[in-house]
Amino acid sequence: MSDTVIVGGGIIGLLTARYLAQAGKKVTLIDKSELGSGATWASAGIISPHATSGSTDIAGEPGLILRNLSFALWPQIAQSIQQETGIDIEFTLSGVLLVSFNKTESENIKTKAKKNDWGNTNWLSSDEVQEKEPELSKTIDGALLVEGGNVEVRNLGPALEISCRKLGVEIRSGELVSEVISDKNSIVGIRTEKDEIKSSNVIICAGTGSNQIKGIDLDIPIIPQKGQIISIDGRKIHLNHIILTENDPYFVPRSNGKIILGATREWAGEDKRLTVGGLSWLMNGGMEIIPNIKDSAINETWTGFRPVTTDYLPLIGKGNIDGLYFCSGHGPSGVGPAPASAKIILSLLTENPTEMDINPYNPMRF
Ligand SMILES: Cc1cc2nc3c(=O)[nH]c(=O)nc-3n(C[C@H](O)[C@H](O)[C@H](O)COP(=O)(O)OP(=O)(O)OC[C@H]3O[C@@H](n4cnc5c(N)ncnc54)[C@H](O)[C@@H]3O)c2cc1C
Repeated sequence: MSDTVIVGGGIIGLLTARYLAQAGKKVTLIDKSELGSGATWASAGIISPHATSGSTDIAGEPGLILRNLSFALWPQIAQSIQQETGIDIEFTLSGVLLVSFNKTESENIKTKAKKNDWGNTNWLSSDEVQEKEPELSKTIDGALLVEGGNVEVRNLGPALEISCRKLGVEIRSGELVSEVISDKNSIVGIRTEKDEIKSSNVIICAGTGSNQIKGIDLDIPIIPQKGQIISIDGRKIHLNHIILTENDPYFVPRSNGKIILGATREWAGEDKRLTVGGLSWLMNGGMEIIPNIKDSAINETWTGFRPVTTDYLPLIGKGNIDGLYFCSGHGPSGVGPAPASAKIILSLLTENPTEMDINPYNPMRF
């Protein structure tokens, strides 16, 4: 019998399983599909303590706190995963340029940085931006240089899975969890299509699937937000930083010569198909920021679904049944803030209270 069953093996479930196994817990991690193949696989992998888009801003200070704490944890996590598995997750701290196209946008970015006390930032004039990033459009008014970096999410999932296996986590993929089982308001296990697994703790880390599991009578307003995204051949476009704009698109240079051009934010159910409107918006917007990408080959296009809650904050903490926990609904920013989120669950399950205020993430707040 496991101490804990984790439902969902994206970045959140995997990191949570890893922390719990490191603390000596017996963990079973179940995913209906291949681990790391959900939103985590689709992500651009940006890790920054600061708001990476307009919608990240909505998460306010509690969102900022999670991103900040996580940002400090990432270098050590990346290093230890590499040592344990030999897989390079291509963690880089290139820095992020938040670029603006006019004076109003420039003022907005400066105000946002000041209001949120972003600390270690540097405003660059148009000429300074050109010096740092000659490929950027000459029409750019200026940019704020902030801390940040990224990971190759396609390597991150497999690396975390191997790390978890080495720590003794029992991993079951291709098995959908249909129901949590409780008795007198205490968790006794879960039911899958094939089996019943007994456990006194269940953690729901199922992303957009977190509100589709029977046996949980709780309002979980997680809505899938569709993101269409492109990988282009960036060998002729040299970028030194991640490039973000107020309302997208953004660019993420990868060490393997690819550049990620992302991403749409659409309320379009879970229809995976790419659309003419989505891709043309990305490509036209991208060419306004870096005109030379017009000659770049397209390597790959894909879609992913961000697990977005109605207040843009994740659900982290105890649910409405004893032994039921949630760590899901991280929306547009879930890779970056994953370590601190998983650590909150670790603190609750090891009865080692965290000093941070976790009320804003209370899964029962809706
Ligand atoms: C286009 C795009 C770009 C993004 N860019 C960034 C970025 O740059 N930086 C950033 O921080 N975030 C980014 N995100 C957001 C980020 O990807 C997500 O917030 C994060 O991956 C969520 O992780 P997760 O583990 O909760 O969900 P997921 O990775 O979706 O994992 C959930 C898992 O649960 C499994 N599951 C669901 N239901 C069940 C069930 N009933 N039984 C068993 N298993 C189940 C699924 O198969 C899945 O593997 C982006 C997202 C998208 C779509």
